[in-house]
Amino acid sequence: MGLSGADVKNPAGAPIPPGKAQDAALKLITDELGDRNFVMAKLDNLFNWARTGSLWPMSFGLACCGVEFMHVIAARYDLDRLGMIPRASPRQSDVLIVAGTLTNKMAPAFRKVYDQMPEPRYVISMGSCANSGGYYHYSYSVVRGCDRIVPIDVYVPGCPPTAEALLYGIMQLQRKIRRTGTIAR
Ligand code: SF4
Repeated sequence: MGLSGADVKNPAGAPIPPGKAQDAALKLITDELGDRNFVMAKLDNLFNWARTGSLWPMSFGLACCGVEFMHVIAARYDLDRLGMIPRASPRQSDVLIVAGTLTNKMAPAFRKVYDQMPEPRYVISMGSCANSGGYYHYSYSVVRGCDRIVPIDVYVPGCPPTAEALLYGIMQLQRKIRRTGTIAR
């Protein structure tokens, strides 16, 4: 695992700001690790690092937002490079991207899919419909926000959100996972 500037801290645990002092500290640590052929890190941090690089999303397109979800998986944005490979089974999925309009009829199945995912699991609410019912907020048949059914980690606004917006939402989720076990906000 490579070191970055954010990993460099003084003995009191405070980050060393970028500059000559940080460069010198990084060189010292890198030389030391090079000599001894091992890297030390907290196990929690390693797990979180691994999780952010292997978030397998459940294929769960409910309506038109699903097309933007497909777009972000396709060649231009290529989610694979973030280690995200869509799965067809909730048992193998880490993240549920709610891409579209959630109807009352679909809600029990949606909850069941969520319940079948192993912990730790994350949910991204994609688009106005998933966030709040969107255009169909006053419809008799649409759930007014999928957060009424499952807890949501990241909301991506828009109708539909662009592929870039979804990608940004995924990166926000990665940031959130990296903060697991800390009080950083
Ligand atoms: S937010 Fe817009 S694009 Fe997405 S499912 Fe609803 S109507 Fe379709």
